[in-house]
Amino acid sequence: MQDCVGEVFAPAIADNFLATGWRLRWEKRLPAYLDWQRAQEALGWRWAQAETRVSRVLPLVDGDSVELYGRIDRIDQTRETGKGASLLDYKTQTAKVIRERLKDDVQLPAYALLHGDAVQAAYVALDDERIAAVASVAAGEGDGVLLAAAEAQGQRLQSAFACMHAGARLPAHGVDSVCQWCEMSGLCRRDYV
Ligand code: SF4
Repeated sequence: MQDCVGEVFAPAIADNFLATGWRLRWEKRLPAYLDWQRAQEALGWRWAQAETRVSRVLPLVDGDSVELYGRIDRIDQTRETGKGASLLDYKTQTAKVIRERLKDDVQLPAYALLHGDAVQAAYVALDDERIAAVASVAAGEGDGVLLAAAEAQGQRLQSAFACMHAGARLPAHGVDSVCQWCEMSGLCRRDYV
């Protein structure tokens, strides 16, 4: 693992010496990461893919379509036949910070929508002493809930794009206390829409 880290970071450090800071930071996390990885494997999960490009075309009511695409950090599988995948997204944050904004999270359901066969999705919080996976709120509520949340995100996108195609106004969502100092109000049209 240490050799692998050196190999992967070498071109980044050759390009920018400051990448050494990221390498040192990651090397400190290695023992905790390996503990977490062993726990995953004890639960039956095995690494299957990384940096997987995924996309999905969603039809719109006016006959047009919109393409959602992204890249999933990591996909694990079990040996159990017919059991779906586990989608993982690495975050250089603490589990506490991730948990605090989980209720508004759309990234993991969107990944589940793009993948189409996931039974769980989680953020891997890398910044704590012990590395932990913080599961999507939807994933923690039972079988099928994650995919239901994924479909709901798809419907939200379809509905939003259908409205935009029909000429819906797009008000900027700025906060007054910030917007009052901003010089971009003409660009975002906050003053006009
Ligand atoms: S660009 Fe500026 S004015 Fe527009 S929403 Fe953002 S902060 Fe407010």
